[in-house]
Amino acid sequence: MFKILCLLTLISFTACGQATTKSTTTKMNTMENQHNPYYKPDQKEAVIVPDSVWANILSPEVFAVARQKGTERPFTSPFEESKEVGTYHCVACGNALFKSNAKFSSGCGWPSFFEPISKSAIIYTPDHTHGMDRTEVQCGKCKSHLGHVFEDGPPPTGLRYCINGVVLTIEKIK
Ligand SMILES: [Zn+2]
Repeated sequence: MFKILCLLTLISFTACGQATTKSTTTKMNTMENQHNPYYKPDQKEAVIVPDSVWANILSPEVFAVARQKGTERPFTSPFEESKEVGTYHCVACGNALFKSNAKFSSGCGWPSFFEPISKSAIIYTPDHTHGMDRTEVQCGKCKSHLGHVFEDGPPPTGLRYCINGVVLTIEKIK
């Protein structure tokens, strides 16, 4: 089941080729936050920042995905197979998005989760680009593009949040 759906996802990735970023980074995004004044995990207010400002704050790889709806190359994110325990946050604004215990190994090439940390953590938008009917997921606080959600995930939700690892950072449990 997964293999077929993963194949479909890979096809869709190919279809998204123009938006693909050439990310060769293997870092865990921990450095991304150091010069970002909008990375505030403790603040819940919406973060409304023009893309012209984000462009000077986020790395080109993160900006292309988060603000231009790009897709990172599959199997490039260190988060894809990571078993780190903690909470995954939006790398742009610090919004808590997913708990590590909602992460599963989909084999699709991108970090996958079966549920977000809360309903309001995510914004859902129909996406009909590239001849497909998909649901885009964005950060509920800063509206950065995260990825898509598909209805082929494991129990208990049956959902697969297919997320670009480059827009995630993990706050590990100490
Ligand atoms: Zn965000």
